[in-house]
Amino acid sequence: MDREINGNIQLKVPEIKYTKLFINGRFLDSVSGKTFETSDPRTGDVVAVVAEGDKEDVDNAVKAAREAFDHGKWPRTSGHERGRILMKLADLIEQHAEELSMLDAINAGKLLRMTQAFDIPKAAFMLRYFAGWADKVHGQTLKCSGEFQAYTLLEPVGVVGLIIPWNFPTVMFVAKIAPVLAVGCSVVVKPAEQTPLSALYCAQLAKQAGVPDGVLNVVTGFGPTAGAAVASHMDVDAVSFTGSTEIGKVVMAAAASSNLKQVSLELGGKSPLGEICLAGSRVYVQEEIYEEFKKKTVEMVKNWVLGDPFDPQVHQGPQVDKRQFEKVLRYIGKREGATLINGGKAVGEKGYFIEPTIFADVKEDMLIAKDEIFGPVMSIMKFKTIEEAIEKANNTRYGLAAGIVTKDLNIANMVSRSIRAGTIWINCYMATECDAPFGGYKMSGFGKNSGLQAIHKYLNVKSVITPLYGSPW
Ligand code: ADP
Repeated sequence: MDREINGNIQLKVPEIKYTKLFINGRFLDSVSGKTFETSDPRTGDVVAVVAEGDKEDVDNAVKAAREAFDHGKWPRTSGHERGRILMKLADLIEQHAEELSMLDAINAGKLLRMTQAFDIPKAAFMLRYFAGWADKVHGQTLKCSGEFQAYTLLEPVGVVGLIIPWNFPTVMFVAKIAPVLAVGCSVVVKPAEQTPLSALYCAQLAKQAGVPDGVLNVVTGFGPTAGAAVASHMDVDAVSFTGSTEIGKVVMAAAASSNLKQVSLELGGKSPLGEICLAGSRVYVQEEIYEEFKKKTVEMVKNWVLGDPFDPQVHQGPQVDKRQFEKVLRYIGKREGATLINGGKAVGEKGYFIEPTIFADVKEDMLIAKDEIFGPVMSIMKFKTIEEAIEKANNTRYGLAAGIVTKDLNIANMVSRSIRAGTIWINCYMATECDAPFGGYKMSGFGKNSGLQAIHKYLNVKSVITPLYGSPW
């Protein structure tokens, strides 16, 4: 029997208050007056019409951010005060958790119970974590050769451009702005065109919390126009990008050919998981349990309910938009000799729903094993020895994360040291912690998004050298 969408989509739509660019503390139309539609992935219907920023709007946003950095009080105020304001923003995000979780559910097709339980609390947590660092960033005193002494100053890099994707709209926005603001930089954010709504909502909350005008600017719009203008801007000092490896290369090239702004990239992944568990797009299963694993996985997803992400009974919502929906179906359609053991089709007449799709007998060189699909598609592969599993797991151009499920501590230790990836989960998956640095190896990028490393991305180190016993000249 063909799978059906659970119940009727209720079409609960939250009130959408903010749809314009946020520049210098005000909501503005784009200079061109252009707008774009953002749609509800449950139905494909338009939910809001949003200002479409382009180069001129980015110029205006950067100008405001520059002025705030060069002459405003944000970088000159105490870290303690900045921390206090970010803590206030965390409180406001919690007070507006209902609106924000609905905006992410309607814009990205994420399960409402997940945005309520995970995304919004995590965003507030992240803010408080980075707010805590704001007054604890210090340089060092250096002994030097004997004739001189030196110390280092850690100074905010200046105006930071942030370009972000659609998969965690609020968490990503907040997690990216938090370390930038904590150290006293100002920022221009380009949210994903699919999910602009919660970023604009948070910008307004930041103003309410006391972030001065010009320090935080949001330019909604498309990648090749607004995004490219941020990456190539001569007056942006650093850019932090999260998105596909393909666009990461474009951003880095734009940064290099403009003003050599500092770059950090968190790019695609094809994270391997060994032995057991449902998450992870490449799952390597030991030979002895391979058949049973396949059987149990299929049994498990048979009861998986697809439908309205606002419905608490639902396990899986729609893909974010038509482009992504079609891309996932194209990958599924390729097959390449793998055995389809579950799903494989779109579901329903409207919206962007795809069955949970599982391929077995997947080989290393198949596209479904190599490319980042970003959809409900799992590849199951067999291995004999742990050495073979490690070799296969590393056989990817990505290195974002990996997981291992085992009762053997020695294997867990060996695997965590042998896999070339930025995060290793042992007997868990997808756990992220504010103080654990998150970011990739290899073509999954460089630069970390959580932890103290994220703070240091936005700091320049300055050495100040003075003679110890009067001038030698
Ligand atoms: P995804 O495939 O997940 O949508 P992308 O890498 O295409 O990931 O997009 C991530 C972010 O990068 C989005 O905000 C998008 O608008 C932006 N982007 C896309 N193309 C460019 C570009 N040429 N320059 C700068 N940013 C871009």
